[in-house]
Amino acid sequence: MRLAERMKLLGTETAFEVLARAKALEAQGRKVIHLEIGEPDFNTPANIRTAAKKALDDGYTHYGPAPGLPEIRKVIAEYMTKKSGVEFTQAQVMVTPGGKPIMFFSILALVDPGEEVIYPNPGFPIYESVISFVGAKPVPLALREEREFRFDIAELEGLITKKTRMVILNSPQNPTGGMLTRDDLQEIAKLAVEHDLIVLSDEIYSRIIYDGFTHTSIVQFPGMQERTIVLDGFSKTYAMTGWRLGYGLMPEALLPYVAQLQINSNSCTASFSQIAGIEALVGPQDEAQRMVVEFKRRRDVIVDGLNKIPGFKCLKPRGAFYVFPNIRGTGRSSRELAELLLNQADVACLSGTAFGDYGEGYLRFSYANSVENIQIALERISGLVSRL
Ligand code: PLP
Repeated sequence: MRLAERMKLLGTETAFEVLARAKALEAQGRKVIHLEIGEPDFNTPANIRTAAKKALDDGYTHYGPAPGLPEIRKVIAEYMTKKSGVEFTQAQVMVTPGGKPIMFFSILALVDPGEEVIYPNPGFPIYESVISFVGAKPVPLALREEREFRFDIAELEGLITKKTRMVILNSPQNPTGGMLTRDDLQEIAKLAVEHDLIVLSDEIYSRIIYDGFTHTSIVQFPGMQERTIVLDGFSKTYAMTGWRLGYGLMPEALLPYVAQLQINSNSCTASFSQIAGIEALVGPQDEAQRMVVEFKRRRDVIVDGLNKIPGFKCLKPRGAFYVFPNIRGTGRSSRELAELLLNQADVACLSGTAFGDYGEGYLRFSYANSVENIQIALERISGLVSRL
């Protein structure tokens, strides 16, 4: 079939491809440990499931308004006001099927062909994909291990040109688990104001942070609320990946255009998912907190285990549920090693290059899996590396 030219510009998320390949191996009887996909293995907390069942019985089975049901938009505005210390109203809240459409919609709505968007590399692959798809130029901003995967502000400044329209931030970060500091964000905010840039701040992992570190949103700094789109959602914090529920906070003047993109694509977000989302935000938070405690336990196990494997060097990330070990000491490329791990050791993970060119020399493991499985995976990785 002849495809439209623009399809050549669209990238993908390799995690879904590797997951499909791992499932195919399982269908042949192999027992693969899944450390490829960024999805909590926990069940959605019971109070949220109960709220969804009740919502179905109460008739939340119809189309709703494109920007989201007023009830949840109000709750999200209150939640974000409390979380960020910046006043938000429901007119700034756009509810979408997962946080991902906020990337697509905000880039489509704001970036013209030929303009430039600076994005973290290694980073979530959909940023680069969508930037290219709209005919804009993706400008990678390197995240380096030496800086604990925080980018260098001077390097960011050096990439800004007259054509720069947007900067994408993601903290805590996928795939490295790195976090920007308050000082970093303050400096980035100054640059954004000085150069009149839009900031897309992907804060989907902002509730999954360890060791007493705290999350700061760039929206808190002077002059930022009118130029920032905050992306957040329920997938990671409340183990709700399959519910497809996320949101963006944005300037009120932008929202009708983003809503128009929603009307042209999804119409709206599932109504009963939105009602369950209200319970997630206002109900007890203890299960969400327990998940973070368990993620931290797993992080410590996988970081310690990887650092014992010859050729591996792994930083201890501050947030999210990924580790991004340096594997240069094995003498293999990232892709080669990821392939060998899947095909010869039944461990599914992602090559660092799935997150951009600056990911060469690294692998990404998601530790959203049990400690028992992580330990088995570590033994298998160690065994494979010793045979190389
Ligand atoms: N942003 C980042 C950095 C992610 O890693 C993900 C999911 O993997 C998302 C956004 C989107 O999540 P969802 O669409 O499930 O809310």
